[in-house]
Amino acid sequence: MEQVTLTSTAMKGAGWLNTAQDPTQVFIPEDCIQEELMMMNMCHQFLEKEVFPLLERIDQQEPELLKSLMEKAAEAGLMGISIPEQYGGLGKSFLYSVLAAEALGAGHSFSVATATHSGMGTLPILYFGTEAQQNKYIPSLVSGESKGAYGLTEPNSGSDTMRITTSAILSSDGKHYLLNGQKCWVTNGGMADVFTIFAKVDGSQFTAFIVERGMEGFSQGPEEHKMGLRGTSTVPLYFQDCKVPIENVLGEIGKGHHIALNILNTGRLKLCASNVGGAKKYLETSVKYARSRELLKTPIADFGAIRHKLGEMATRIWVVESALYRSASLIDEKEKELLAKGHPFHEAQLAASEEYAIECAILKVAGSELIGYVVDEGVQVHGANGYNEAFHIARAYRDSRINRILEGTNEINRLVTVDMVFKRAMKGRIDMMGPAIAVQKELMSIPDFGAADESLFAAELKAIQQFKKAVFLVAGAAVQKLMMKIESEQEILMHIADMAIEIFLAESALLRTIKLANLRGEEGTARELDMTRIYMYDAADSIAKNGRDAINAFASGDEQRMMLLGIKRFTKVTPFNTKDARRRIADGL
Ligand SMILES: Cc1cc2nc3c(=O)[nH]c(=O)nc-3n(C[C@H](O)[C@H](O)[C@H](O)COP(=O)(O)OP(=O)(O)OC[C@H]3O[C@@H](n4cnc5c(N)ncnc54)[C@H](O)[C@@H]3O)c2cc1C
Repeated sequence: MEQVTLTSTAMKGAGWLNTAQDPTQVFIPEDCIQEELMMMNMCHQFLEKEVFPLLERIDQQEPELLKSLMEKAAEAGLMGISIPEQYGGLGKSFLYSVLAAEALGAGHSFSVATATHSGMGTLPILYFGTEAQQNKYIPSLVSGESKGAYGLTEPNSGSDTMRITTSAILSSDGKHYLLNGQKCWVTNGGMADVFTIFAKVDGSQFTAFIVERGMEGFSQGPEEHKMGLRGTSTVPLYFQDCKVPIENVLGEIGKGHHIALNILNTGRLKLCASNVGGAKKYLETSVKYARSRELLKTPIADFGAIRHKLGEMATRIWVVESALYRSASLIDEKEKELLAKGHPFHEAQLAASEEYAIECAILKVAGSELIGYVVDEGVQVHGANGYNEAFHIARAYRDSRINRILEGTNEINRLVTVDMVFKRAMKGRIDMMGPAIAVQKELMSIPDFGAADESLFAAELKAIQQFKKAVFLVAGAAVQKLMMKIESEQEILMHIADMAIEIFLAESALLRTIKLANLRGEEGTARELDMTRIYMYDAADSIAKNGRDAINAFASGDEQRMMLLGIKRFTKVTPFNTKDARRRIADGL
């Protein structure tokens, strides 16, 4: 691992695990151009003017209100930012759609309804539809004239999506598929006109269909009484010999899983973007409250305990944002590269997002846990008022909980992160065993006590490299030891996933800081350096704990002792006064 080379712009998915990264090649939010920032500003303005004044009425599901707001957003172009112009979209790059997802992220039920409509409600047809299907459905979805939804989950099939029982049988005249079964938890279900519905042809071939409201045999059930997102429509859908024309088969018969899985990648990344946008807003809400609430003639924002919370919220937001845009830009670049090679738009988007599917799963976990943390501490900063529906933070708390369940639960995303790494390693797409063996050898040899590199960022760069050794040590040994049994050792896989997640986040923050320091100088980057150091300091503990817990679960004797020593060695960080650093960050808020 010592001899790694710096990457080119075309970093492979998960390449950061075993390759040192060049900060100058990493995209950071500060790289955004004026036009991108203007588009974000337009989204912010839309929320401020059109959505925030109506939040209460939206939550009461005032008839037609959310629908009309979505139409207004569509008129402003917000439903088709990255949809090709031929379908009425703005034809902007993937990065624009991620920036928009962030900027619209704080809009509660409005955000989720629009994100579902323009994501799962539109993209399956755009990516997998025939030209005729695209021409028929996409323009009206982009203009907001029709609304989109997606039905995969069933009462007896959630995370195990392939076990759906909704069936599709070809009619005797060969003109229709007759769908029978039930979907549940369909977002936008009560208002949508066009649905991507998954069913099994002849009981076994997992297939997607475009179903229109009003098709014979289609009906919907009552609205769910949800903990949060009370403004979104979430209903079950029923199919009773529902007649779907054969032209409405989406993609190939038996290949529906390609659609279900591929649509998830960008969905997960955009959910993270939306969570970052929400978290920024709720931090702002909490800061405002902390400055206005006085106790003992002092604003609570001056109390160290509150400053700690605000500083930590800001740090985590900044770190996840760093990882988000690093990944979004990689997908964006890959897509452009494939388009330049002549691949059609949908192929380029799908291949690019598949390449970074590991990063997308990591971001889904990171974004949803970030917003969970921010709203929880936000309520705490508000005291009893945080528990009062009259205060914005209470709605934020309720609405954000679902993020850890949607787009694959966080348990599933952790498991697929590691599963994808192992599978890519087996296919030779990632070198896992090489670094794992190198780490084992290094542990047997005498540690290098050579003079420490005192240059700026040298300690942090070294720490990231050491963290990577820790995860290779654990993952490599776990694979060797448990072989095929590893799949049933989910607790160990979750520990490995958490180690990888922390490394990706910490490295993203560090690379952003180094790039900024190159541009602004060390003094101009003091705040970013504080945030990076705080995060890395805590990440070291988290990586160490996860590493130890995993090792203790499968190793024993000398091997266990040796590996535990390795974890200790690889997670050592320079002592750092995180209290003062968080105070400085809170002061800056
Ligand atoms: C507000 C809302 C909106 C939704 N919108 C849509 C929509 O538009 N379209 C749609 O199709 N669905 C939608 N869903 C459904 C959502 O996608 C599912 O809830 C989600 O996939 C989880 O499935 P489940 O609820 O059946 O949980 P389960 O799969 O039963 O999971 C329960 C628990 O077990 C864990 N678990 C499950 N399997 C495993 C495993 N193999 N290993 C380890 N742990 C496991 C999970 O992580 C979770 O903690 C929505 C749900 C809600 C609440």
